[in-house]
Amino acid sequence: MQWGLIGASTIASEHVIAAIRAQEGNSIKSVLSSNPQRGADYAAKHSIPQSVTDLDTVVGDPDIAAVYISTTNEKHYAQAMAAIAQGKHVLCEKPLAMTLGEAVEMVHAADKAGVVFATNHHLRNAGSHLAIRDLIQSGRLGQVLSVRIFHAVHLPAHLQGWRINDAAAGGGVIADIVVHDADTVRFYLGEDPVDVVAKAGASGMGQGVEDSVMSVWSMPSGAMVQTHESFTHAFAGTGIEVHGTEASVIGRNVMTQQPVGEIALVDEDGRQDISYSGHGLYVRSLSLFTQAIAGNGRPAADGVDGVKSLAVALAVRDAAESGQTVRVDYGGI
Ligand code: NDP
Repeated sequence: MQWGLIGASTIASEHVIAAIRAQEGNSIKSVLSSNPQRGADYAAKHSIPQSVTDLDTVVGDPDIAAVYISTTNEKHYAQAMAAIAQGKHVLCEKPLAMTLGEAVEMVHAADKAGVVFATNHHLRNAGSHLAIRDLIQSGRLGQVLSVRIFHAVHLPAHLQGWRINDAAAGGGVIADIVVHDADTVRFYLGEDPVDVVAKAGASGMGQGVEDSVMSVWSMPSGAMVQTHESFTHAFAGTGIEVHGTEASVIGRNVMTQQPVGEIALVDEDGRQDISYSGHGLYVRSLSLFTQAIAGNGRPAADGVDGVKSLAVALAVRDAAESGQTVRVDYGGI
């Protein structure tokens, strides 16, 4: 299967190009960039046969069956809709779109066209998160009381562009990281947050967007979720904790793109390290996506998952701006 890359991005170069090529029979034919020279340089660097500047050239190419969209966030909607209209399968980066309505439209369009449409939420592909989810789902923790997420990182210098200074491109830590945490909680608990409260701040790393946020979510089961996302914390480390009536599971250094980190189960008998698979997160995401195209199973995170993670992030933004409790609007999906 031949792919088109929509966006000459960092995430494609650091993770997704290799993950596509790790799938048997998959190759990349084309990369779309808005800048001809950058596109040509990117294609040469990554041994991609062709670089183009016109979206229709990629989505209209009969050789290309699937596209990976990793442009800045405000472009995802129009690019995905164009690809779907041409019958291409779409793996789209998070957040799916700038508005809930657009994201819902993307999912409906893909359903109608009969193409596979997925969201590249990498965390639910990690061996660590799969192991934690299995512990929760098996009942080992008892009734889940709370989840605490520590996802305050220091944005690397090479990513300190649109994310910290361009609200129109979808910048800000809420669009960038809260979506991943929402997806992870939904994946763990199998339920969707009902309402949220939040506070956001801008410490001066960028301009015009928030670089830190803390929020609390209510789950239908009664579980409470507490999250902290930031671009400005150099030394905090990441983690996730799920606390139940029978046990707690503690993940450290697991909110990451690499298959790393430690997990421990703590109960009345003490603390026990939990082992997990060390496979690549993006390789698994691409594997499930290509299998779904072949008619086997479903992507790790589909379009509905992308709509729901966006819905939670938008509610967190509304709550931070208004100071009110905000009910999460899932757009009827
Ligand atoms: P980048 O900033 O690297 O790329 C986004 C766009 O910026 C590219 O499409 C490109 O435009 C342009 N660009 C890239 N490099 C340069 C440069 N040196 N000078 C000028 N313009 C440049 O973004 P990311 O790769 O960090 O993120 C892309 C998308 O992927 C976002 O939607 C983000 O949310 C998502 N993402 C997802 C992750 C995940 O794990 N699921 C992790 C990281 C990001 P053009 O294509 O026109 O050349």
